[in-house]
Amino acid sequence: MTTANDQPSAREESLSESTQDIMDQKLWLKILIGMGLGVICGLILSPEGLALFDEGFTLALSEWLALPGVIFMGLIKMVIIPLIICSIILGISQSGDMGFLKNVGLRLVPYFLITTAIAISIGLILVYTIQPGQYIDQSLISSLSNSQAAQSIPAIRFDDLSIPQRIANIIPSNPLKAQLEYDMLQIVVASILLGIALITIPKANSHFFSELCITGQMLSMKIISWAMAMAPYAVFGILADITIKTGLDALLSVTVYAFTVLFGLLCMMAVYLTIIKVVARGSILDFLKSIKEVQLLAFSTSSSAATMPFSIEAAEKKLKLKPEISRIVIPLGATINMDGTAMYQAIAAIFLCQVFGIDLTTTAVITLLLTTIGASIGTPATPGVGLIVLATILTSLGVPDQGVLLLIGVDRILDMCRTTINVTGDLTAASVMDRWIKAPAKSLNSDQNQDAAISR
Ligand code: ASP
Repeated sequence: MTTANDQPSAREESLSESTQDIMDQKLWLKILIGMGLGVICGLILSPEGLALFDEGFTLALSEWLALPGVIFMGLIKMVIIPLIICSIILGISQSGDMGFLKNVGLRLVPYFLITTAIAISIGLILVYTIQPGQYIDQSLISSLSNSQAAQSIPAIRFDDLSIPQRIANIIPSNPLKAQLEYDMLQIVVASILLGIALITIPKANSHFFSELCITGQMLSMKIISWAMAMAPYAVFGILADITIKTGLDALLSVTVYAFTVLFGLLCMMAVYLTIIKVVARGSILDFLKSIKEVQLLAFSTSSSAATMPFSIEAAEKKLKLKPEISRIVIPLGATINMDGTAMYQAIAAIFLCQVFGIDLTTTAVITLLLTTIGASIGTPATPGVGLIVLATILTSLGVPDQGVLLLIGVDRILDMCRTTINVTGDLTAASVMDRWIKAPAKSLNSDQNQDAAISR
């Protein structure tokens, strides 16, 4: 049950105004239309499709078509770090109670790790049973490495660190470097530490910093709402561009792989619904009804971070979860709990091992499971990065670089689906924590009191 007052604070009003606007516009429908038109347009223009124009002109045109998508992603990337930092700091500091935070932490971290491990295990069982790698024509691999899509090979490589080095690396000794390198785990750790520190210092001193975070969160939301307004054009352009560059053959050849991922994601959805019924003791239908708009937004934007404020809104207004829980669990979940991404990365890695004839030992598969948990935690919640982070896993397994090219054609659609699962996972986690954990003695209303104090 929510503990918020009937009188919403200025911050709450402003945040829900930004989220409500977008929900009201049936944006998800426009995005789905943009998606369909994008693929059709790509197929018409593609040299392997109707090829209306010569190849040089088509490729130049596809760059222009992709422009709104590049701007959309740029805007989301621009605000994702301040949004995540401000949301986590505020979520933690406003609970105002160390005992409550300990309770949340002790339950949430194992919960996140266990659900991610379940997702990866389902993925591994499916990929070994279905063997999607068997359906790939070897000649396609050599033709892909010479194609235009070769230019899209991800350039980012995550450091190849040993396990103790990785553990030590959790502490953001240089917070600016963490931001520069999109090291999400370090950013989350820094934000949690700042949030906790803020509780422990006198209100008179913490007040200014809290206000700064509130403003940061509101500004980020405004910019996200602008990005969202152009999302239908962005999705149209991105899909047209991808279809032009990869062609239908490349898409069709990986159909079995794509269905393996989609089936795995569906299984994960079933796991969440079981958790809602059995652990959170909620109604599955009510849960699905309350989150359907958020799921559609996640699907259409492919970004857990951009969807995060809407998830918080749905958790509080529709699922009626305690704000103290949803404002901690959802920002953290959006950043580090990515079950869909983890499952996808595991399936993709084994699929490529099958394609390139790489046999993995049991130890290598267990190492893959652990690496994938880490990789999904470190994946920034923005479109398409799951594929980029996957490159690290592939290098460690000995899969050649051009393997990624096979995945690019279907990556956008899989990204949409895995983001939907990521966001559903966060809302499931929030529902479970809401059932397990009581509200702190000092509720979020202190924020509203603070707002009132400012306006006085
Ligand atoms: N787009 C995903 C998300 O934001 C991350 C990924 O798997 O690429 O949740």
